[in-house]
Amino acid sequence: MLDYDLHCHSNVSDGTLTPTELVDRAAARGVTVLALTDHDDVDGLDEARAAAARRGIAFVNGVEISVSWRSHTLHIVGLNINPAYPLLLAGLSSVRSGRGMRAQKMAEALAKAGIRGVLEGAYHYANNPNMIGRTHFARYLVESGHCKDVKSVFKRYLVKGKPGYVPHQWATLEDAVAWIHGSGGVAVLAHPGRYMSGRAGMGKKTMNELLAGFVELGGEAIEVVTGSHTPEQYAEFARYAEEFKLLASCGSDFHGPGESHRDLGRLPDFPLGCRPVWKAWQTDADMKVA
Ligand code: AMP
Ligand code: MN
Ligand code: MN
Ligand code: MN
Repeated sequence: MLDYDLHCHSNVSDGTLTPTELVDRAAARGVTVLALTDHDDVDGLDEARAAAARRGIAFVNGVEISVSWRSHTLHIVGLNINPAYPLLLAGLSSVRSGRGMRAQKMAEALAKAGIRGVLEGAYHYANNPNMIGRTHFARYLVESGHCKDVKSVFKRYLVKGKPGYVPHQWATLEDAVAWIHGSGGVAVLAHPGRYMSGRAGMGKKTMNELLAGFVELGGEAIEVVTGSHTPEQYAEFARYAEEFKLLASCGSDFHGPGESHRDLGRLPDFPLGCRPVWKAWQTDADMKVA
């Protein structure tokens, strides 16, 4: 079992726990090295780092950047970043800036489908209004009785081809990787299996092109063990990692109790042959202990 969890969310983005609550839960569940990777925002890192120090676990500064690549939305995790790096902060701010307008368009689209008053409801769930996103809409639609759980809301309303889906232009892959590298971090392609699922999912050829492009930009790692992968996908992406000489990362992608595929920590071991992503920063003295 891995005691590293390098992907999770607090209520600074679309998680439900505060950074402190998240760290406490991770520590209680045996995580010894935790990265907080909120979407497009680093505001929770200071609080999480202080909480990790109190609990005696190591903490890695992280972020998960939303990216548009061809017709796909990708997520690039940055690990061991410097959250004070100005170009990263400016970049994240530019990515966040489109969220308000997108939320308005989503509410209009849902109103056309007969569901009114969603915008206010969604904002009620967004602890950080700058980070308003689909999960906040989903939580509201569950609360208001439109669907039984968050997963069903996505399926019925919020994914490509459904009435509340609004296409959006996020960061470019090149920019996201450059911001991460500029801040001293390691770039990780998050949950690659998700990009290959569903009707709009990419095929193997496109995944190969994506990985080749990512490596060319200096991308260092892919998530092999993540909450949204099946055991078969652990093996599949371990093979991709080997083929593209990428390091392997692991994380639950936890968003909140009762809502996520996996709770924090207790992730299964990497398939044999994977080189863990923490090799990339293990030599940094400041990363040994939070
Ligand atoms: P956004 O950045 O606002 O487009 O929201 C993306 C977030 O929505 C992801 O990080 C997940 O937390 C959540 N999400 C995306 N697809 C699904 C799904 N099929 N089921 C549940 N949550 C999802
Ligand atoms: Mn999320
Ligand atoms: Mn993601
Ligand atoms: Mn995530």
